[in-house]
Amino acid sequence: AAVPASASGVLLVDRAAIAENYRILKAAFLEKAVAAVVKADGYGLGAEQIVPSLVRAGARSFFVAQLDEALKLRPLLDRCHPAIALYVLNGLTPGTETLFADNTILPVLNSLGEIEAWSRFAQQRGTAQPAAIHLDSGMCRLGLPPDAVERLRGNPGALDGIVPTCILSHLACAEEPDNPKNAEQLAYLKQALTALPRAPVSFCNSSGIFLGRDYHFDLGRPGVALYGVNPTPAAPNPMRPVVRLLARILQIRAIDAPQTV
Ligand SMILES: *Cc1c(COP(=O)(O)O)cnc(C)c1O
Repeated sequence: AAVPASASGVLLVDRAAIAENYRILKAAFLEKAVAAVVKADGYGLGAEQIVPSLVRAGARSFFVAQLDEALKLRPLLDRCHPAIALYVLNGLTPGTETLFADNTILPVLNSLGEIEAWSRFAQQRGTAQPAAIHLDSGMCRLGLPPDAVERLRGNPGALDGIVPTCILSHLACAEEPDNPKNAEQLAYLKQALTALPRAPVSFCNSSGIFLGRDYHFDLGRPGVALYGVNPTPAAPNPMRPVVRLLARILQIRAIDAPQTV
């Protein structure tokens, strides 16, 4: 590959390497189901260019951050495969219920308020509505905090009309295998899951997959490792490189003191 004359640089994205990274992660996840996180336009590499390769490699669940990203990807995913689950991590913003349901996009419910809104919507429509439920096990960013989980335990009717297709939680320090936070989050998650109906559990981001089978549960949820970033920073990178930056050398100059640059 060369830099075209009209450009001073080119970023090359190797889609075959992304597909190979999906297979490497799936093998590390002991061949259980692995979703693909393609938020932020596929970590800046172009979600629409990447998604078909991931579907061909076997991905059947996708995660984005925002509903707008999901609305853009839904028709493409439908053309790739008839049964792709598409989740929005940022959750159910007020008034978006119809957009989610009519486009077969699944909200990740992050609070009791979102659970209440989705349950009410299901009852209004008269049909059960699928969704993921996000438990915060220590990341302290999004998801139900422990007190909300305990309120759900005491009031399972709050989930009426909701079909949980996935219960997810996010590791805060998985790239540090010796960090005690990992085991703390795992122990809390196991305890919190007893407050919820049974559903496939998704706990592992890229680095989490390499913490071993105790952390795996049912569905892997890697992002950055698909794109070649090392999920095990203390060890050699098991991923294939995906991105190559070529830049044109504009000029080479020979200079010497007292010249300055
Ligand atoms: C970004 C994100 C992921 C993917 O994490 P990586 O570290 O990029 O593998 C998984 N789950 C959630 C909730 C995220 O926000």
